[in-house]
Amino acid sequence: MVADTGDRTSRSASIREYIAYDDAAIALVGVDVIDGTGTAVRRNQTVLIEGGRIAGVGGADSLAVPAHARILELRGHTVVPGLVGMHDHTHMPGITFIGGAASRLWLASGVTTVQTAGSAEPEAEAKLARAIDAGEAVGPTIFPTAQYLTGPDGNGPMSKPASAEQARELVREWAADGATWFKLYRHIQPDIAAAVIEEAHAQGRKVTGHLCSLTFREAALMGIDSIEHGLISAADFIEDKPEGECVSTRHSVAAIQLGDPRVAELIGLLVREQVTLTSTLAIIESHFPHRPQGDERSLALLSPAWRQAYDERQTRLAETAADTSMTPALLAKFMAFERMFADAGGRLVMGPDPGRHVLPGYGNQRGFELLVEAGFTVPEAVRIAAANGADALGVGDGSGRIANGYVADLVVLDGDLAAEPSVIRNVEAVFKDGVGFDPGRLVAGLEGQLGPR
Ligand SMILES: [Zn+2]
Repeated sequence: MVADTGDRTSRSASIREYIAYDDAAIALVGVDVIDGTGTAVRRNQTVLIEGGRIAGVGGADSLAVPAHARILELRGHTVVPGLVGMHDHTHMPGITFIGGAASRLWLASGVTTVQTAGSAEPEAEAKLARAIDAGEAVGPTIFPTAQYLTGPDGNGPMSKPASAEQARELVREWAADGATWFKLYRHIQPDIAAAVIEEAHAQGRKVTGHLCSLTFREAALMGIDSIEHGLISAADFIEDKPEGECVSTRHSVAAIQLGDPRVAELIGLLVREQVTLTSTLAIIESHFPHRPQGDERSLALLSPAWRQAYDERQTRLAETAADTSMTPALLAKFMAFERMFADAGGRLVMGPDPGRHVLPGYGNQRGFELLVEAGFTVPEAVRIAAANGADALGVGDGSGRIANGYVADLVVLDGDLAAEPSVIRNVEAVFKDGVGFDPGRLVAGLEGQLGPR
């Protein structure tokens, strides 16, 4: 989110090809504004962009626009803050780094900032983040994470520190290499988790977790900053859960009623301890056979191998649809839990957790639609998908909202988002640090590129 608009010439040709608007001052005139604070849409506004920042927001009839500003007449369009994706990997299961394609997809989808919530190739990710900051690569501002930290039973390319001291050392090393967040994974041991959290905080970094061995309560009391996925991975309701052991939450989560006082008690604790919760409904939806699966635009980007895997998975889902535990009532419960958390004052953020057909960027948009389906109003969903993320990243005083002096990270949507949440897909232009990008050019050429050939 470093405004680099004063130094236009430093931008490489590889970025310039995607730029639609790069004027010193730009006025978005006649737009409907949903500003990220959660308040209702304001109709017929002008948003003035100058020097990479928002220089004014007001009624289109009253806000003064400087003579040198480029005027974009945008009646019938909605402007929202750039989305802040909070579980936006640079990898997908089966391939360790898709940072280049993901960055174009994020930006094309209106995502101007991401926190990756665990990296499979932290060096490549941190390098990409630096290149984007320096204006040498196109993409959102990236808050890189280190390699996942897990326990001896964990699988995949993850760190498994053998002692608390080794964990602290790893945190110091990754932090020096550019990691801003750390991700605890399912088999992390309690003493290691506590050491990671303490050392990360000492380094001015934050910690999130896809938990299993730890309950939400245990992690919250250790001081974890954020928890991923919501109720689906809460081990808190397992009877006689062995400490530090990852066991399936399938039955306990199916059995727990949201009216059970233990649920309100847990949510109360998370809110008191200021633990952020990340909604990842887009990937969660993909487990449910009764739900929409990959849309055409996403399937078109999958490599032939992944497209085939998608088709095979759809067959399996259809075969098991009759006797699956992934019922409509269970998805409704996951959604209602997120509402309860937010209603209790908890900071809910959103990310897609890219995997299968849930792609970077497109998955953020799907997650937005699902928040509205969960019962949030469109302005509330914008706050969750943008401002709350910025707040969780510690940059909410200057980005994530549409307000005077804020960084001009903005999405221009064709249509009335307040009336129709799917308008979130109709990105006409994306401004990052006041520079307007063309979504069509960003996506062009990515067909068949996601996944191994
Ligand atoms: Zn993930």
